[in-house]
Amino acid sequence: IARNPGESEFHQAVDEVFESLGPVVARHPELLESAILERICEPERQIIFRVPWTDDNGRVHINRGFRVEFNSALGPYKGGLRFHPSVYLGIVKFLGFEQIFKNSLTGMPIGGGKGGSDFDPSGRSDAEIMRFCQSFMTELYRHIGEYTDVPAGDIGVGGREIGYLFGQYKRITNRYESGVLTGKGLAWGGSLVRTEATGYGTVMFAEEMLKTRGQDMDGREMLVSGSGNVAIYAIERAQSLGAKVLTASDSSGYVVDPDGIDLDLLKQVKEVERARISQYAERKGGRARFISDGSVWDVPGSVALPCATQNELNGRQAKKLLANGVEVVAEGANMPTTAEAVRIFRDADVLFAPGKAANAGGVATSALEMQQNASRDSWTFDYTQQRLQEIMRGIHHRCAETADEYGMPGNYVAGANIAGFIKVARAMSAQGLI
Ligand code: NDP
Repeated sequence: IARNPGESEFHQAVDEVFESLGPVVARHPELLESAILERICEPERQIIFRVPWTDDNGRVHINRGFRVEFNSALGPYKGGLRFHPSVYLGIVKFLGFEQIFKNSLTGMPIGGGKGGSDFDPSGRSDAEIMRFCQSFMTELYRHIGEYTDVPAGDIGVGGREIGYLFGQYKRITNRYESGVLTGKGLAWGGSLVRTEATGYGTVMFAEEMLKTRGQDMDGREMLVSGSGNVAIYAIERAQSLGAKVLTASDSSGYVVDPDGIDLDLLKQVKEVERARISQYAERKGGRARFISDGSVWDVPGSVALPCATQNELNGRQAKKLLANGVEVVAEGANMPTTAEAVRIFRDADVLFAPGKAANAGGVATSALEMQQNASRDSWTFDYTQQRLQEIMRGIHHRCAETADEYGMPGNYVAGANIAGFIKVARAMSAQGLI
């Protein structure tokens, strides 16, 4: 804490992982040699830079850009870019730290990193977004590359932004280096299923957890928060399995639709028009309602998927969900559940999937995009989706098996942290004091 003052989200993420590592250290004291725990908390490199840009009225704005290259023991740094006014070093470090273990769990050869800016894209024109992305890349290009660091999207960074970033990288370097970014458009090096991957993967993980109790998604009433990339495709996958999704949200409030979310309308409002979620209820009419205070966690349902942002589900809300009969919680977002809420779910024997396991489908499919780029190939939707499904089953299996091995059956938090950590720690030990 003294070394990283004021970075509360980073402290929270480190605490959450270290809480699980007691039994590992007891069983593998050799992992403590060469200060692995201290080293793993210290990013290999942190870059902070000025991003000047002009708005449509010619006014100059200055934002701050970040890239934290956290750990390259398993492969090039890999992790998204977030554009949101709340971004500061503590957020980027928490996300980068989580990414190390998530990427390790996927079984793919990727290290951990994360970046972004405190730029607020809401209400900005396409031209403003483009100028911002070009300015951001004019510094970032020095630090990234197919074999070095491969950014992707996150909150506020989707296909449009990746396009502008890629265009500027290509222009500055005069290299068509497809593998430098993932989440690209399908015509220029992107992968089928990447857009859907995080949301689909989260639901696949929840399905695997339910299977351990002989249950499935069919007919379940589900709560989803957020209405961005992860939320939309979690809803799509859940509906295809026969679940009824009752809610979606954004930072202005949430909608409850007792008839089940109309996905085409939600996509139109959020993906095409980039409008507020209240538009959904206004246009749907009938029993759909927009509510500006409270949260989706006030609504009864047996499966909850937090897919918006960190710390959006606290202890009080966890108790409410339990009282309303929740049985499964899978984190589509990164660290959306506070430590207190996680403890409440664990004590009540709720099936709880931490984000570093449940939402790893996105980065895993990014790694599949890198494979396709490296071989100058593109795979079909079905084949890529099948690979994603195998990867999610593999992650579930690794978490469950590790939790069993360490005497904590059903504890996916411990399973994910321990399995993710051991692989990285062994690689770091093998590579010497670096
Ligand atoms: P998007 O920008 O597409 O969507 C984010 C959604 O969350 C929007 O509905 C947004 O509402 C809402 N939201 C964001 N910040 C807040 C906030 N402070 N309070 C309330 N609502 C908020 O992002 P993604 O869907 O890509 O990301 C969502 C989460 O999933 C993040 O935690 C991200 O790190 C994680 N994730 C994403 C992956 C991906 O592949 N995209 C991979 C793995 C994890 P509004 O529009 O009003 O801001």
